[in-house]
Amino acid sequence: MSPTTLPEFTVAIDLVLRRDWNARAPRGAYTQLDSTKGVKVHYTGGRVNPGIVSDHDGCVSLVRSIQAHHMDGNGWIDLGYSFVACPHQKVFEGRGLHHLPAANGPGLNAGHYAVLGLVGNAGLVQPPDGVLHAILDAVQYVRDQGHAGREVKGHRDGYATDCPGDPLYAWVRRGAPRPGGTAPPRPGPVAPPFPGRLLKYPPVMRGEDVRTWQRQMRTRGWDLDVDGAYGPGSRDVCRRFQRQQGIEDDGIVGPVTWRLAWEAPARGQG
Ligand SMILES: [Zn+2]
Ligand SMILES: [Zn+2]
Repeated sequence: MSPTTLPEFTVAIDLVLRRDWNARAPRGAYTQLDSTKGVKVHYTGGRVNPGIVSDHDGCVSLVRSIQAHHMDGNGWIDLGYSFVACPHQKVFEGRGLHHLPAANGPGLNAGHYAVLGLVGNAGLVQPPDGVLHAILDAVQYVRDQGHAGREVKGHRDGYATDCPGDPLYAWVRRGAPRPGGTAPPRPGPVAPPFPGRLLKYPPVMRGEDVRTWQRQMRTRGWDLDVDGAYGPGSRDVCRRFQRQQGIEDDGIVGPVTWRLAWEAPARGQG
């Protein structure tokens, strides 16, 4: 493993190891899993107490109870999931790396690691950002360390189930973006401060403020020279832009016309 030929993995994952959540020992040997196509995302399918959002001990209890249900109810050798993501961006080690999960359904376990997000079909239904981050931390972890491919799918992909619930599944279908990334609506562009003088013609006005406005209008798609000189061409573009924006077409760049040059939604020039 030479650092010159292999990237050094900097895995930002807050793992809760099995001993840390007092996991019961598996009842039998895991089936080895060399590689997978990726990850399938799951939810609990039941009610999740919203109180866990402010109580990580509640996450631990919930994971322990799911393990008990899988071992004592389903008769599985262990918790069925590879990893569990909680609202505190922690990732519980379930069956872990290179072990066949049980939660994806018969015939589907060798294809994907199984990652549970701690949300349900009642109570805590909308996945908190911490859960989404933790799922993605687990996804990155199995890619880096577990020979997992790029797929991120839902349990319902290829199996008749509601899992992982509509909110988590919609997120999966959007490409499982990091919260706070490009997904949330971004605030619109903000105009630079109005230069403090009206840009108008005649006579020709010159200055950096004129050039700044011309450059922005060019960026918006208007055909004008970016020469720092406000003459008839600039005035004409200004008037047409003002008409497009439904404001008085006096051909003078005042504070409102200036601000709209940056903040008005882009559209055709009519
Ligand atoms: Zn599932
Ligand atoms: Zn937690």
